[in-house]
Amino acid sequence: MPFRCNKCWKPTERTGNAYITTCSHIFCSQCGDPLFAGGGTAECPACHRILAGRDVQLMELSPGEAFQRMACWGLEPETILEMVNNALEFYAYQKQNEVVYASFLSKKVESKATQQERVYSDKMVEGQNSVNTLNRQIDTLRQDLAAIKQESQELQSQVSEKERQYAKLESGYEALRLKYGGHEVSSLPLSSPAPTQPLSRHRDVLRLIPPPSGSSLGTLPPVPTSTSSTRFPGTPTPARAFSSSLFATLKRPDTPHLLNRVVRKGGL
Ligand SMILES: [Zn+2]
Ligand SMILES: [Zn+2]
Repeated sequence: MPFRCNKCWKPTERTGNAYITTCSHIFCSQCGDPLFAGGGTAECPACHRILAGRDVQLMELSPGEAFQRMACWGLEPETILEMVNNALEFYAYQKQNEVVYASFLSKKVESKATQQERVYSDKMVEGQNSVNTLNRQIDTLRQDLAAIKQESQELQSQVSEKERQYAKLESGYEALRLKYGGHEVSSLPLSSPAPTQPLSRHRDVLRLIPPPSGSSLGTLPPVPTSTSSTRFPGTPTPARAFSSSLFATLKRPDTPHLLNRVVRKGGL
């Protein structure tokens, strides 16, 4: 398992070279060359110790078989054990640093995940609030729609009632037209007694109907209380003039509405 550079924490190349310091740190060529290639003093990027030229060694990480076989030749066993012990301590220290670095990365990722979770949680709360607001608006719109429907039904029933009243007035108007129409009135004998009671009722109607501009209905002749047989044939009697005026008034378009007022008052 390759070592990791103590500055950039990238794995070193097995077949390449690396800078190893007396403070037990290792750096890749890309990080170590600018610092140690000149051979002068430099500061260790990991522990900030000042290193002289002999404190830094450019080592081959995968020495050849001949070097491995002959590296300790000619040395005393104590020296060989010391070299092996130093190498194992360096290996253990580097692996311990890698564990610390992995723990640091883990905490960094965990902190970022916690921050992202908080952001998403805030977004969720904001989205839920928006949904609640929209639900309240939907409820309000539903209530408004129900009120509009109820109002529409009430208006519809009022229209139906008005139509029923209008039909009733139309039938009453038709009956009056047939009863007091120009043909029937003009065919009455001049000597026949005047229909005092019905005419007096229709004078009430005519009082409620304002005369049109230029009309002479405002000066209706008085209701005849008696007939005269001494008039010449063809001469308009007061009863004939009143009937003609009544007929003209009943043909006016606003007469059904005014008749309705009389009907409600009990006049007809
Ligand atoms: Zn590096
Ligand atoms: Zn160091």
